[in-house]
Amino acid sequence: MKIRTGFGYDVHRLEEGHDFWLGGIKVPHTKGAVGHSDADVLIHVICDALLGAANMRDIGFHFADTDPKFKGIDSKILLRDVIKLLTDKGWSIGNIDSTICLQQPKVNPHIPAMKNCLAEVMQIDEEDISIKATTTEKLGFVGTEEGVAAYAVVLIQKG
Ligand SMILES: [Zn+2]
Repeated sequence: MKIRTGFGYDVHRLEEGHDFWLGGIKVPHTKGAVGHSDADVLIHVICDALLGAANMRDIGFHFADTDPKFKGIDSKILLRDVIKLLTDKGWSIGNIDSTICLQQPKVNPHIPAMKNCLAEVMQIDEEDISIKATTTEKLGFVGTEEGVAAYAVVLIQKG
C-alpha cells in the first residue's frame, strides 16, 4: 500500500458585511472572510493538503482566482472536485487533521456541524476528520481580527 501525507495553509481577510463561511457552514458573526470564492479557509486548506499529498499542485492551479466561473463559488463544490481528482488517480483519504486560527467568534460550538458537513461532501467518516481551533492570544492579524488562518495535514492511500 502506498501512503502519502499532504499539508495546507491559507489566510483570508475578515471584513464586515460578508457572510462567514467556515468548514462548509455559515458561522454567525459581524464579519466574514473575503475572497474570490466564498473564502472558506478550512475547506481551502483541506483541498491544498489533499492536492499536495497527491502531488497535484494547489487549489489556485485548478481553480484560478481570476476565473469568473469561480467567483463567489461554494467551496464545497471545489472540495468535491478535488476529491474526484484524487479518486480518479486511485487515492482514498486516510484522515484529516486541521487547525483554525481565529480570535472571534468561538469555533468550538460549530465543529460538530463542520465535521458533519465535510464528511458528507468528501464521503468519508466523521471520525476521520479532526478540526481544532485556537486564538493567537490577540497577536498578529488573527489576534486583531483582521484575518482568519488555517492549517491542515492529510494522509491519503492507494493500492
Ligand atoms: Zn483560500
